[in-house]
Amino acid sequence: MLKFEEALARILSAIPPPATEIVALNRACGRILAERVASPIDLPPFDNSAMDGYAVQSKDVASANPAQPVRLRLSGRVAAGESFGDGVAPGTCVRLFTGSPLPRGADAVVMQEDTRTEPEEPQQVLILDTAKPGENVRPRGEDIKRGATLAEAGQLLTVGHICSLAASGRAEVRVGRQPVVGLLATGSELREAGQQLGPGQIYESNRLGLAALLERIGCIPKVFPLVADEPEAIRAALETALSECDAVLTSGGVSVGEMDFVKSAFEATGGELQFWRVAIKPGRPFVFGRCREKFLFGLPGNPVSALVTFVLLARPALLRWQGAVDVSPPRSPGVLAEPLANPGARRHFMRVKLDREGKVFSAGLQASHALSSLAAANGLVDVPPETRLAAGETVQVIRWDEG
Ligand code: AMP
Ligand code: MG
Repeated sequence: MLKFEEALARILSAIPPPATEIVALNRACGRILAERVASPIDLPPFDNSAMDGYAVQSKDVASANPAQPVRLRLSGRVAAGESFGDGVAPGTCVRLFTGSPLPRGADAVVMQEDTRTEPEEPQQVLILDTAKPGENVRPRGEDIKRGATLAEAGQLLTVGHICSLAASGRAEVRVGRQPVVGLLATGSELREAGQQLGPGQIYESNRLGLAALLERIGCIPKVFPLVADEPEAIRAALETALSECDAVLTSGGVSVGEMDFVKSAFEATGGELQFWRVAIKPGRPFVFGRCREKFLFGLPGNPVSALVTFVLLARPALLRWQGAVDVSPPRSPGVLAEPLANPGARRHFMRVKLDREGKVFSAGLQASHALSSLAAANGLVDVPPETRLAAGETVQVIRWDEG
């Protein structure tokens, strides 16, 4: 049986370099950038005022204080978006607003709150405080220099990136294409919501959870109808899904029973199994396969196993498919509020609840069918075989949900 790291490495090494496309910046948030983007301009593009106030020559106001204000002649006004032909000469000042270009000759801005005007002398400004050279001035290129990297190829584009790219004048970017990922649930006991449950039947619950997780990483889920445990039905469903999608996630039918047909059905479609079974709990029967340039992630049917193997093994692959460099799941540190014990021989990714104070609790029943603890959980703690983590220990919580 493969070790977890070995399984993940084998999956990632099978993923080809990303296919890319150009998208408008307003569609790019959350996508994986496929090019290095540098700023073609300095930001800010010109020296400008950080305050509403007055542009001055700092040496003119070196003695200013509220008791003995310095009197300067107001020689003009520059609103944001305007430019000013004349400079600031000694003994004068220019009215500015936040974002107004700093006029020539000025080297500082005195903020409005440190000035006074008198109605009888509207062309005079009383300066009540000193200003050091550069004070309240945002110099050209202070924030981002022309040519500086705004984002690297392989990075997930965040809201912050979108803002900085927009500020540099970008309208579109090259990103990794989004995979269409088929979702197939196998199991003759499965029924759709709204159908009457007969004896031995249950409602299908894996496809929607997986679809939600796929959307969060930029994939386009495509939900297929339920598939009974019949070799030919599974083969036909896989063939359709593989022809319409870039990758297929199945759930169920990958265990050792004689009703587990996914592996053989995949081979019957021309697919090649890359490996089966990983030494983790839950999720041991996970299958990875490849059919030409398409991929199969065969998840176990138990809802917890399906979700955990998705987070640990399929999610990284689908991010790498889009060109992401960092494909590891988000992690948050926390402190165990109670012990977590794994008496077994496989690594156990235990469901936990990380609260806002950073305390980590077991989410409850750890069996791989247990939906109550899945609903209570917002992460997993990787507990090594035959290990008991004591209360008070710091652990890394692998996250899939913000709640
Ligand atoms: P399997 O992996 O097919 O052996 O299924 C393991 C367990 O998960 C069985 O109890 C199945 O009934 C259940 N199961 C399989 N697929 C699903 C599904 N899509 N939704 C809910 N439960 C499922
Ligand atoms: Mg089954």
